[in-house]
Amino acid sequence: DSIANQIAAGEVVQRPASVVKELLENSVDAHAKSIQLIVREAGRNLIQIVDDGVGMSETDARMSFERHATSKIRSSDDLFRIRTMGFRGEALASIAAVAQIEMRTRRAADELGTLIRIEGSDLKTQEAVSCLPGTNILVKNLFFNVPARRNFLKSNSVEMRHIIDEFQRVALAHPEVAFSLFHNDQEIYNLPVGKLSRRIIDMFGKSYREQLAYCEEQTPYVTVKGYIGKPESAKKTRNEQFFFVNNRFIRHNYLHHAVIGAYEGTLPDNSHPFYVLFVEIDPSHIDINIHPTKTEIKFDDERSVYAIMMAAVRKAVGVYNL
Ligand code: ADP
Ligand code: MG
Repeated sequence: DSIANQIAAGEVVQRPASVVKELLENSVDAHAKSIQLIVREAGRNLIQIVDDGVGMSETDARMSFERHATSKIRSSDDLFRIRTMGFRGEALASIAAVAQIEMRTRRAADELGTLIRIEGSDLKTQEAVSCLPGTNILVKNLFFNVPARRNFLKSNSVEMRHIIDEFQRVALAHPEVAFSLFHNDQEIYNLPVGKLSRRIIDMFGKSYREQLAYCEEQTPYVTVKGYIGKPESAKKTRNEQFFFVNNRFIRHNYLHHAVIGAYEGTLPDNSHPFYVLFVEIDPSHIDINIHPTKTEIKFDDERSVYAIMMAAVRKAVGVYNL
């Protein structure tokens, strides 16, 4: 079974950012109100997440590292129906197969919590400890037992960019949760609870205070809501574009095209507009590729979503009458 875990890990855990994504989503699923992410050496040496969520019983803590130990799955169709982020129950098992894990977890009602240590799927410690309610998990020396993988990792700045991408996606989808991110003891983000506009400004900088335009368009089929940046705030880099479908981050070239089209030539050359756009749609109208690392979906009436997206953005850009 530890071989099965390693194979699954190859799919789920491609780099430190994959671990960050899974752990952040678990904390959100556990109804945390505050989530702290601490990384060292771009996640190579340490990825730690501290949450104040529901925590786990001793049995659940042990079980959480078994494959398919999800408390959430019903079927893959449920993915966009249920509101939890996790669904396959293999993230923790996969991560534990390729790292050294130390987890402390406690439910508020329990007097003591549980400490678990696992190295490459081997349970090293399981004991009662006193700890804060919630879950505190350390993932150390990722790929310590898969040198080829470890060597394959890119520079710290590239790996950190991937971590920040994942962090931003989860933090934008959950402005009702406080988040912080530390890298090598340096604070990268400190995001208090607030509305989406506040979250965007805290994350991307005060200059966005004057640059954001609210978007909203509703039809019986789909709702689009969110913020876009004014044309003058568009950047040369392409990492401030976010679509969420039913609060889950996705990539969608066709919808991206709709947004760009809505700017109607007002963008400076070779620049990419800021957007954070939420699509709400009945899950029966979407088809999801459930590969763990993919974030792609199909709409049954893609052209309608395109048209509504374009209309929403066009109004916000203020070029509606051109
Ligand atoms: P999934 O999220 O797909 O269910 P995971 O392997 O990510 O699978 O987690 C396994 C289980 O461990 C979860 O279903 C959940 O019950 C529990 N769990 C994981 N992380 C946390 C956490 N931070 N707080 C509380 N429970 C957690
Ligand atoms: Mg999970």
